[in-house]
Amino acid sequence: MDLLEYQGKQLFARHGLKVSSGRAVENVEDAVAAAAAIGYPVVVKAQVLIGGRGKAGGVKLADDEAQLREHASNILGMDIRGHTVHTIWIEHASEIASEYYAAVLLDRSAKKPLVMFSTEGGVDIEEVAERNPERLIRHHVDPLAGLAREEAEAIATQGAVEPDVVEQVADALVALYEVWDTEDASLAEINPLIVTPEREVRALDSKVSLDGNALFRHPDNQSLSDAENEDPIERRAREQGVQYVKLDGDIGILGNGAGLVMSTLDVVAHAGGSPANFLDAGGGSNAEKIRQAVELLLANEAVKAVLFNIFGGITRCDEVARGLIEAFEVVKPEVPFVVRLDGTNDVEGRRLLQEAALPNVHAARTMNEAAEMVVALAAGRPVGAGA
Ligand code: GDP
Ligand code: MN
Repeated sequence: MDLLEYQGKQLFARHGLKVSSGRAVENVEDAVAAAAAIGYPVVVKAQVLIGGRGKAGGVKLADDEAQLREHASNILGMDIRGHTVHTIWIEHASEIASEYYAAVLLDRSAKKPLVMFSTEGGVDIEEVAERNPERLIRHHVDPLAGLAREEAEAIATQGAVEPDVVEQVADALVALYEVWDTEDASLAEINPLIVTPEREVRALDSKVSLDGNALFRHPDNQSLSDAENEDPIERRAREQGVQYVKLDGDIGILGNGAGLVMSTLDVVAHAGGSPANFLDAGGGSNAEKIRQAVELLLANEAVKAVLFNIFGGITRCDEVARGLIEAFEVVKPEVPFVVRLDGTNDVEGRRLLQEAALPNVHAARTMNEAAEMVVALAAGRPVGAGA
């Protein structure tokens, strides 16, 4: 679950990280009132779940009410790479002497928390990592011990921060680690972590992702999920208790069981296709679940073809076939389907599909064959015999 910048900063503040105070508003008049209360100059910041807002024109400084009105009205409603701005954050503008980068995340391959730090913050950190990897300090933390104060100081020193702010940077790293650890975050990032001309270290931006599966341990954080910014289909899926993830391609994918779904994504990618979404119908899928799943997959308009990959175990292939036939009565899909049924009652399932003679449904025997067929269909190329 990703947080908006201002929500992340509120978490930061709870753990003693310094941030500028500000207000989240949704219209120009409230922005004017907020700025008057905070005091000019202020910075107007688009609150969307995507980075690079500055480059996209979603972060602007305002010295007076006229400028504030101009920026607030431009940024509200702005589209930043597919994300519409509903909320802006107004905070007192900071003066910047230096911009650093700091992050805590889980390094899965090392099976340890990883602290990353650089004095080359503010810009694309990926670029620093690529061009000057020695400028990005990577430090693994013993998860049982946590990040000790001396370790944090060593990171700051190794990163060559200006000596007079080593202590404050260390404080910020310890606090950031505490945010990551105690809030069950998967990522806690500050870019930039600034030093002001008065030599104060402060988080100017935040990027925080919380582990949705641990939310039950954090009642305070439950209200942070931003319904307006959540993908509406993902929300519907969650409400129906189905695992659904939106991607960027044009092939809809349904499987039963996480492992099968993951390998289906791989096989489709290998065949040159690009998944638009995937949906795990789970074990024991029945006809009703399958109908809901088809509706969810097709709710995404980017989908040009759908791959159904079912391995029958507890799930019976004849039930899946019935669900698909029912779904076609209700939904009447306009895009082709490739169906691979294997396992429990697969013969019966295929027979049902064949009898129903659904328009534009193609049967495949193996996963590879299914992937190749669906990639061809999504590209508008014809394939062999239908079901
Ligand atoms: P991002 O582009 O989405 O990462 O948004 P940021 O919050 O990081 O803002 C982008 C850039 O705007 C920062 O790197 C700063 O250079 C600049 N910026 C943001 N807030 C302030 C501020 O209070 N004062 C000044 N001078 N610049 C700011
Ligand atoms: Mn930033």
